[in-house]
Amino acid sequence: MSSSPPVNPVEIARIALKRLTERGLPPTPENYAQFYNAVLTIKAPQNKSTDEVQLAWQVIYQLDEVLEGASGSTGGLLQSLSGGSDSMLQSLGVLQHARQAHAEQRVSIEESHSTLEALLDDVIATTRSMHGTVHTSHAELQAIRTTLRQIEEDLAFNRKALEMDALTGALNRQGLDHLLMREVKRARRMNQRLAVAMFDLDDFKQINDRFGHLVGDQVLVHVTSLARAVLRDTDFLIRYGGEEFLIVLTDTDVKGAQYVIDRLRIVATRTPFQHHHQRIEVQFSAGIADLRPEENGRALVLRADEALYRAKHSGRGRVEIAG
Ligand code: GH3
Ligand code: MG
Ligand code: MG
Repeated sequence: MSSSPPVNPVEIARIALKRLTERGLPPTPENYAQFYNAVLTIKAPQNKSTDEVQLAWQVIYQLDEVLEGASGSTGGLLQSLSGGSDSMLQSLGVLQHARQAHAEQRVSIEESHSTLEALLDDVIATTRSMHGTVHTSHAELQAIRTTLRQIEEDLAFNRKALEMDALTGALNRQGLDHLLMREVKRARRMNQRLAVAMFDLDDFKQINDRFGHLVGDQVLVHVTSLARAVLRDTDFLIRYGGEEFLIVLTDTDVKGAQYVIDRLRIVATRTPFQHHHQRIEVQFSAGIADLRPEENGRALVLRADEALYRAKHSGRGRVEIAG
């Protein structure tokens, strides 16, 4: 596990004040304290420090720094362009004045020439300076763009890591709401069925008690591979709790889900986990539900959970279908 980055109170205070100013809020002690604490929580994610969470925070600091840099560069560019444009307008004014004086024959041709020459020099100098700034800013913006792209990749990687269960590599519950919402929407749009199956290993505590927690962990990994073997590429496996899994089956009805659970039971019976030449058999109870019209993903999972509860209480090792 990596340690939190050191927190510098002066830096926190600086950022808090900056955020207050950006939002146009008065720096009252209440506002200041609120922003100070908000920034502090961002800068020092205490105790939650799993490696994944740390990674995510690092990316957020990085993004904060890049955005600060970007606002500096674009601010500089705008300032320089506006300065250049002021100077150009001034030159144009002088030019108009000179033209009028020339038309009214108030100045000699030589005088007009030297005024024009001086004006042209000014305009060339301004253009050159603007070009220089644009050139530098272009390079800076390019660098910022590359960094932002890198951050985008890091964020995608982090998101994946955050939604994955570290032991089994199945999805964890973090991403479940999002996944369900997406799949429910897709099923409705494509006019397809959507089924979920929740299964919980039976008497798993006994496996831990007999063989130890580490072996218990290996059994969970084993069950995950068996489940993966019976699923299609378009299905999802989520570790819903300790020894409880959820399967989301796209384009599938209750009958299809029951077929998958039956297959999993057959495969699990045929392929027990081997520990020092000893067979550890794994059984499970399951509950199945398929999507009803007007139902959301959470309600669907809840019905599968209730069906699982019935399966547990009517003898284990069986599957119940939600009513
Ligand atoms: P039931 O048939 O009623 O489901 O009985 P059970 O023993 O499977 O269920 P119970 O809820 O009594 O116990 C679940 C056990 O699963 C206890 C807990 O220590 C174990 N467990 C949960 N997560 C993990 C894990 O990540 N690794 C290991 N090895 N065990 C775990
Ligand atoms: Mg159990
Ligand atoms: Mg359980």
